[in-house]
Amino acid sequence: MPVTRAIIPDPGTYYGLGREHGRRRPDGTPEIDVRGSFVDALAAALELEHPCHDPSCDIAAALGEGFYRVAAGLLIGATECETVEDVVTYYCRHRGEEWNAYGAVGPDADRERADWSAWHVRHAYPCDGCGSYTYADDTWTPDRCGNCSADLWADVEREAVAGYVACALWAGLDWTVTTEHGGDPRPLDDAYAADDITPEALDEIREDVGAFLRQWWPLASAAGWSAATFGHNYYLTRNRHGAGYWDRAWPTLPGFPAADPATIDAGDELTAAAHVEGEAELEPDGAGRLAYRQ
Ligand SMILES: [Zn+2]
Ligand SMILES: [Zn+2]
Repeated sequence: MPVTRAIIPDPGTYYGLGREHGRRRPDGTPEIDVRGSFVDALAAALELEHPCHDPSCDIAAALGEGFYRVAAGLLIGATECETVEDVVTYYCRHRGEEWNAYGAVGPDADRERADWSAWHVRHAYPCDGCGSYTYADDTWTPDRCGNCSADLWADVEREAVAGYVACALWAGLDWTVTTEHGGDPRPLDDAYAADDITPEALDEIREDVGAFLRQWWPLASAAGWSAATFGHNYYLTRNRHGAGYWDRAWPTLPGFPAADPATIDAGDELTAAAHVEGEAELEPDGAGRLAYRQ
């Protein structure tokens, strides 16, 4: 690994990060504290060399969430970063860390990568327009792509609602009309179509499906499901029909971040979340149209 500027000399020497501790060398070069842990030193070097708040930057996301080895690996792969490379070199030479062309090596590094993958599939909102991700945190979900400003929801929500409504008509039952023989209810789509849903009911469905979609779309899209499939299975799962999220396969995802099927089961996670939302269905409103009952 090329090291073009050595700011970290002998082991055991105190170096404090310039910005954080107000310490700089006389020539102005910031200094990193290498007495503590590898990740603390990496974090300091990363904050110095990549002070980025771009909501579409995976390095900023990994750094912000405390995945310092991952962030360092991404930064080293993306651009020149002498200080981060110096820190890696120092800890590999003197403190027993290992690093190869793919990044940090060892059980701590493997765990961090798996945790990063798990975080990524829950917080990375994909943009169909430009292919980049915009990263949410626990208090904020993006409306627009941080890279190209495209509306992240217009198409996705329309498709999810369409899938949900089609499934609700297909799987729903009209208990107000029963057959002569067994007293069974009539399938809803025998007599009703999507344009029989009242505008109020459609607004409620949009709000209901839209909220669930905003929370879970990163995971569902990482699993390769379309928005229509997502909406269709939301209906089936929450109403406990004989199919749903749990019986859909979790594929092996190409490229990074590679989600570990042993630790991430999108079907189980979405099933549990849909069950929390509870049942909801279309029903005749008594005036020839369909209402939404939650
Ligand atoms: Zn960045
Ligand atoms: Zn975009």
